[in-house]
Amino acid sequence: MDKTLIFGHKSPDTDSIMSALVMANLENYLSKDTAVPCRLGEINKETAYALKYFKVQAPKYLDNVSNGDSVILVDHNEFSQSVNGIETAKILKVVDHHRICGFQTSEPLFYMSEPVGCTCTILYELYKMNNIEINPTIAGLMLSAIISDTLLLKSPTTTIKDEKALKELEKIAGIDVNSYGLDMLKAGTNLDEYTAEQLISLDAKNVDINGNSVVIAQVNTVNIEDVMKNKVALEKAINNTITEKNLDLFMFVITDILNSNSQTIALGRRIDLVEKAYKIKLENNTAFLPGIVSRKKQILPILQENV
Ligand code: MG
Ligand code: MG
Ligand code: MG
Repeated sequence: MDKTLIFGHKSPDTDSIMSALVMANLENYLSKDTAVPCRLGEINKETAYALKYFKVQAPKYLDNVSNGDSVILVDHNEFSQSVNGIETAKILKVVDHHRICGFQTSEPLFYMSEPVGCTCTILYELYKMNNIEINPTIAGLMLSAIISDTLLLKSPTTTIKDEKALKELEKIAGIDVNSYGLDMLKAGTNLDEYTAEQLISLDAKNVDINGNSVVIAQVNTVNIEDVMKNKVALEKAINNTITEKNLDLFMFVITDILNSNSQTIALGRRIDLVEKAYKIKLENNTAFLPGIVSRKKQILPILQENV
């Protein structure tokens, strides 16, 4: 029996971890090959809370793939966010909800992409399409991902499909989504033990914006000031990363999940992209971004429009 490695993006968030687990469970019904859920980085505190709550083990860590390995990508498609060696792997499937960028394969594949709030919402549909029962544990993993990606349905990325899936999954899992969801999100805002270097890489994405090499990193908090207390150390870590990776822009976004606002610290030779995008002037490398919570919908495309 062959095995198929299933993983989400680097700096995995709850959706990337849960989608790998949930997709592996689905593959075990659909395929003769053994599906192995994997992760490309450390489990964050929010995800750890959810895994513990539903008593599920984290996927195993995967550093790289090699020639001919069969893989399934979930919650991403950009090679810059994927496993080391992805160019040499055989991509069997992709299930994702991001822009498609720089994606190419030499063979046909299954590719399912929808502009919904969460990859697990698409996986929920895939279970339905294939008539596979969703057990309470799988439902718990899926709903955790939906809560995480949509900030309890408050993010502008939220669609009716996410709302419907969450409602249905709440019934199957037999929990109260609102109180569980708030606890889970809050678990992810406990940032005390992280160094500045860790904070800027917890949820960081490498993106190419019209030839500019950009990292957009995000942390969730219930108190922006708490994170901004470490501004000097954060700036130092960001500047080191810019030098190391020769970046044009590093945008660090601190998101207040209770009030749905963000504060950004932006550094690099193309900070003008941020200033133009939001019609703001950075002061001491920072600015408040009212109403901004979604990298996918309110940051990445807006930067792109303003290059
Ligand atoms: Mg993700
Ligand atoms: Mg996602
Ligand atoms: Mg995310």
